[in-house]
Formats: sequence, C-alpha cells, structure tokens
Amino acid sequence: MKTYNLNQISSIINGTLIGNGDEVIDQIFFDSRMIVNPVHGIFFALHGNQKDGHLYLQDAYQKGIRNFVVEKALNNLPNANFIEVKNPLMALQNWAKNHRKQFHFPVIGITGSNGKTIVKEWLNQLLWKKYSIVRSPKSYNSQFGTALSVLQMEEKNDLGIFEAGISMPNEMQNLEEIIQPTIGVLTKIGEAHLENFKNQDELIQEKLKLFSNVEKLVFNIENEKVHQAILENDHLRKIDKYTYGYSDSATVQIKQILSNQTNTQISILHNQETFSYLIPFTDDASIKNSLICLTTLISLNIDYKQLKNEFNQLLPIEMRLEVKEAINHSILINDTFNSDLNSLKIGLNVLNQQPRDKKSLVLTDILQSNLSDEDLYQQAADLVNPYHFDEIVLIGEKISQFKTLFQSYVRSFNSTEEFLEQFKHQHVDNEAILLKGARPFKLEKISNELETRSNDSVLEINLQHLIENINVYRSLLKPTIKLMCMVKANSYGAGSFEVANTLQNNGVDFLGVAIADEGKELREAGITIPIIVMNPEQSSYSTLIDYQLEPEIYSLRVLKLFIQKLQEKQISSPYPIHLKMETGMNRLGFHEDDFEELIAVLKNNSHVYIRSIFTHLATADMPEEQEYATYQLNRFDNSYEAITTALNIQPIKHALNSPGIVAYGAHQYDMVRLGIGMYGYSEYTDFMEKYLKPVVRFKTVISQISEIEKGETVSYGRRFTAERHTKIATLPVGYADGIRRSLGYGKGKVGIHGQLATITGTICMDMMMVDVTDLPCKEGDEVTIFGDFPTLADVAEWLETIPYEVLTSVSQRIKRVYYKE
Ligand SMILES: *Cc1c(COP(=O)(O)O)cnc(C)c1O
Repeated sequence: MKTYNLNQISSIINGTLIGNGDEVIDQIFFDSRMIVNPVHGIFFALHGNQKDGHLYLQDAYQKGIRNFVVEKALNNLPNANFIEVKNPLMALQNWAKNHRKQFHFPVIGITGSNGKTIVKEWLNQLLWKKYSIVRSPKSYNSQFGTALSVLQMEEKNDLGIFEAGISMPNEMQNLEEIIQPTIGVLTKIGEAHLENFKNQDELIQEKLKLFSNVEKLVFNIENEKVHQAILENDHLRKIDKYTYGYSDSATVQIKQILSNQTNTQISILHNQETFSYLIPFTDDASIKNSLICLTTLISLNIDYKQLKNEFNQLLPIEMRLEVKEAINHSILINDTFNSDLNSLKIGLNVLNQQPRDKKSLVLTDILQSNLSDEDLYQQAADLVNPYHFDEIVLIGEKISQFKTLFQSYVRSFNSTEEFLEQFKHQHVDNEAILLKGARPFKLEKISNELETRSNDSVLEINLQHLIENINVYRSLLKPTIKLMCMVKANSYGAGSFEVANTLQNNGVDFLGVAIADEGKELREAGITIPIIVMNPEQSSYSTLIDYQLEPEIYSLRVLKLFIQKLQEKQISSPYPIHLKMETGMNRLGFHEDDFEELIAVLKNNSHVYIRSIFTHLATADMPEEQEYATYQLNRFDNSYEAITTALNIQPIKHALNSPGIVAYGAHQYDMVRLGIGMYGYSEYTDFMEKYLKPVVRFKTVISQISEIEKGETVSYGRRFTAERHTKIATLPVGYADGIRRSLGYGKGKVGIHGQLATITGTICMDMMMVDVTDLPCKEGDEVTIFGDFPTLADVAEWLETIPYEVLTSVSQRIKRVYYKE
C-alpha cells in the first residue's frame, strides 16, 4: 500500500487530528484479532454488523496499534494518535475515493448477483502475466470491502479489478465513487438479494449505477431486461458495448458448446473468425463466466487466442481454503489455489485464528507474480516473519535461495518429494500447519501424509455458509441483542472445535453445550468466550468450575449442590449461573412454587450471581401452536419479573431458539439461542429456501459397480430382487457410519451427479448398495448422502424423523473436513 502520514489522512477525511501528524501509515486494520504486525498500522473503529469497533480500541492498542480513526478519542492510551470523524466508515470510503483519483490505469468494475468473485479471480488467472494487477481480496465487495480494496492501488499497478456487491437500493452510487471503474462487467443477474428490491427492474437499475462513468461495458446480450435497460440509459447507450450470446449481434457469438464428463469446448465467432477453447468445467455457470472473461479480454484489446492454454487451466472455486484435522492433534490449512502474495496473506490470517501451541509453514516458489525474485521473496518474508513461525519449510529452487530472509527455524528443499523423504510423522505435534503453494509442487502429497483418515467418506462443513447463515439470523435481530450459539452434541455432529472457533471469531457472545466434558474440550482447544452447560451432571461440577463453564441451574436441589461445590473449592468471587424457567415444556426448570425458596437462597448470596434467566419453547417451529408459545412466553415474562424484582437484578433474558427467532421476533428480549438454523435448516421452509445455505454435506464415493441379471438378489436376506438387468453401485458406508438401516429396501436415496439413486436391499454395517441402472456413473465417482441434493430435510423425511437426528447421527469415524472462503 502507498504510504500516507496522519496529517494527510486527516485532511483527506476532514477529521480532527489529536497527536502526532507525522506518523506514517501503510496498513489498515478494522478487526483487532487480525493484528499481527502493527507497525505503521491504523485502526478504523467501524460499526460492523455485529460489533462496534470502538469496543476493541484497547485490544488493538495492546497489540501495538498507536493510530486510530474513531468517533471519539480515548484519553487513557498513552502515545496514541487519533483522528476523530463523525463516521469512520465514511472516512475510510472518502480516503479510498481520494486515493483512487490518483491513478489513471484501466479499472474493471464487476457486479451482478452471482459470479463476481470467480470472474475477478479468473481474469486475474488469465492476465497476471500481462499486467501488474490490483484486485479485491477474497470477496471484498461491500461498502467497506471496496474501500479497502481500492486503497491497495499502487504506482506499480497497471490494471485494477474490483467487485461491487449490493443488497439494498441506493448503495451502488457510493461504490461507483469508490471504484470509479473505466470498464464495466455485468455477471449473471439472478433472484438473489431480490428481497430488498421492488422487482428485478429496480435491481438492474441499481446495478447499472456502477457503470455511470465507464467507457466500455461487458454483458450477456441474452438477458433482454438488462439489454433493454442499457439501451434506455443515456450514458450506456453511447459507450462501447462488448457482449456475448447466441445472437448474431453479439461481439462474441456462441456457436457451439460441447461438454463431456470433465471438460467443455466452447466455439465462438468474433470479428468473422471462429475460435474454440476448452475449460475444465461442465456447469452452465462456469461456461458463462468463461465467456464473460473472454469478452472482457476483447474489451481490453487482448489477443485472447494466445490465452487458450490459460483457459484450459482455470481453477475452480475461488480461495477455497481447506481446514482439516491432522495427525497428533494438529490442524492443517491447505491452500494451493492461488500462488501469489495476496493469497499468502489470507492463508496467514486463517492460520492465526487456530489456537495451537506451535505454528508451521510450508511455502513453495510463488508463481503468480511479476516482481523480481528479490522483491517477491523479500515481500513474502515481510508478510511471514511477524507471525513468528516455529518452523518454516521452503520448497522450490527459487525460494530456497532466499532462505535467510525468513526468521525462524528454516529448512529448504528443491521438491516436495525431497521434503517427504526425510519427513517424520512423530515430529508433528499439536501444530497449526499452513500449506501454501503453487499447484505444480503437488503439496497434496504432504497433506495426504498429514491428514488423519482416508478421504473417501467425509462430512464436509462449509464454514463460510455457517457464517452467512448466522448473519441471516443476525439481520433479524435488533442491534443490541446478544447471540448464543448451540454447539451441543459436537455442534450437532458438525465438529465442536472448528464450529466453535468460527463462532468465536465471528463475535458470537455465548456458546451452549450439553455436558461439561463438551465444554472442557472446547476450553482445552482454545475457546475463551462464555460457555453455558445446559445439562450439567452432578459429577461434573468440579470440571465445570475448573474450566470456567457456566451451568444451567434448573432446580433448588441443583442450585444447593452447586453452591456447596463452590464453597468446597473456596471460590471467592460470585460464580455466573443461568436459571431455567419451566413454562410449558415440562422438561427441566423452576416452577412458580419454587420461587419463594429460590429467592431466599439467592438473596445476598455471595457464591453465585445470576447471569441470565431463560426458558425454552416447545412449539416454536409449529405455526399451528402459536397460542401455546404465547402462553409460554407470557408465563416466562411473569417468572422473570417475579425473580428479578425480588432480587433487584437485571440479568440477560432469553427464550428463542432458531425457529423462535423467525416466528416470535417480538420476544428477542436480550439474547437468542441459535442452533439448527446456523447449519442451514429451518422448519419454516420459505425462509430456509430463500435465505439459508446448507452447511453440512455427507459424501462418499462409489467403490464398485456390478451388473446383475433379472432374478438375482442384493445384500443380506435377499430383500431386493432385480426385475431387469440392473447396475448396482456399492458405497463404502453403512449403519455404523450413521446411515440408518431403515433407509434401505428402496426407502432412501443418494445423489450421484445431481440425480437420485435408490438404496436397494439391506444396508450393511460398513456398506450399502444403490441402483444406478439408469444413471451414468463410474467407480470412484462422488456420492452425496445428504447435502445439496438430497437435502438433510429429504433424508429426515424418508426416515420419518427430524434433521436434528440425521445430523447428530453421523458417526465419529466419518472424517470432518472444513472449508472456508
Ligand atoms: C438445543 C437448544 C437450542 C437450539 O435449538 P434449535 O432448534 O436447534 O435452534 C436452544 N435452546 C436450548 C435450551 C437448547 O437446548
């Protein structure tokens, strides 16, 4: 980033400077957890969708930040410099707008409902050799993401590629002023985010505002509404338009699209010349995105024919970092998607969020860069060194020459094979390991060594979708409402630590577990936020206290026993507890008859303090039982009132679970408890289909395909007889993996290449068979037990149970693999 001093920044953003204006700035922070190397950093106190950045000034200061942009300066931070402004987000944006004006190279602005990030990444993959590109990191396309992206522009760049994303009317103009694109690219316009717009026309009009000043525009000519809107727009009517589609008036006219199992060949006509290229994808979205990229190349006057090879090497899903369990309690972050400094930065950030005793890095030659080797590896070392790795392994002939730049215990190897020859499993111990390398180095060979179990059957957990789902629920909450997330039963089967760590990193206020041991495990793994234990067994009180877990107290008996334990352990300060009210579930909780004695015990009690009072609804997911839910909520109001008035306290009040948040918004009180909803399921199906994304996918592969004749039978007990020539695929999972036996005999189905195959015959302990007679597939192909299709809800329906049970039944021997943006 270009450097500024505080005087300059303050004058650009019209702020009031308190402190030393000569201080030089070349790094921006907005999340105090991400601060590793604070030198020349400035912290913007933003109001995120969860937390007010002003609450983290102290934390940022402790991590070494001395420069802040705030609404109001603090006076208890010695030697800190402040710029006071009315609105720090607007200040950041104004800085970006000013910064942008200093550059005169082409800037591509991409918007649309889907595909923005992948088009941006693909353009980068196609063009990095020709240009020094500055682009949005990850999917930074929001009001503040775009500002951060644009602030990265430097003298040495000669092409900018930035995304712009909106979810509400009247957001785009500001993004246009920040990005100031000279070339506009419009990706697919879909139904996504339509909820805040009157109709699709309004959405299109809003998106087009990004292009108010572009010189060129790239879009799909087949979308009539878009095309019409562009022709009716005074500015866009006049400028150069670059289009693709089947129409013969398109700049890039599609002639033929031919897909086989793995590739697609696309033939086009441009300037009366035909051209064909291959891409390693077969889905419609990828085909369209490749056409957008090709059309954009034409708008840049680039000879796309020379990039035929690059098209065939386009890489899939952008920035898909894998986080995996690894041997000896280690954790592995596998990122071999991009090989550039930007993605190294992102990988380092993810690594830093993994609490482990030791940190190791495996880094290969960096391929996607046009810096000189000296500059490149110096910059890489500058990024890496502040993380204080315990060990660094460099792989590649280039990077090995710069070994001395890396401050740590460094070893270097010319190839991955050379490294593996001397690699010993037992040297890995409780580490967070980042594997960051270019494809040709085949780092997957190292990750195969480090992974715990074989990869055929896995439960994939998409942490990005988890975060997005949480934000959907957050958007239903009034700003001050706290959020507790339920991670009991191993996070509903999704794996407790990874999910809890993601929640902790995303500002969740409380976690809920069922029993003390679950909480203990999270504490030992490094989870520090408050944890409530919903069903603390008497025998676990000691563990509970030792690990600062907060019990649900549901009866006088439990309360007295717990106080006794606190006395025994001579805990001097009041210990937080959570009182559960019985209001109609008739499971656990205090009844109204208990109140008198409860109040008597708690009055002036120095051993415990009541951190919250709550209840649980029996029918939150049943609209037809609204009357009962209302009865429970009224009863709860009365109970809360009685206890808090008598004790003159105001603890956190909470009642709603996931379906409750959707159905009883008026009763958010001070906190809500989110469970199944964050995994992407809701009994309110409209809500689910519109807003939530599936988080968990149980997948396996086909072990063998056999063909049987009419009359032959399959599996134990011969409960399936072929009525025709039949193709049977055997899958390496069975009831010991959590696939209930009652799904057999034709009742359940699995997904193969987007189609359903019926489970035939009896499900065995470790295997099951499906009928694939009419379904093109081969051995080794992927199979979805549940996920996108069939969904968790489908499987629950076949089993006549609820998704909660299906999720929590997946056996622990199925490996959990985590994905993050
Ligand atoms: C499990 C649980 C929740 C979460 O319920 P969901 O339906 O999964 O949202 C909330 N509160 C309590 C007390 C729970 O035990």
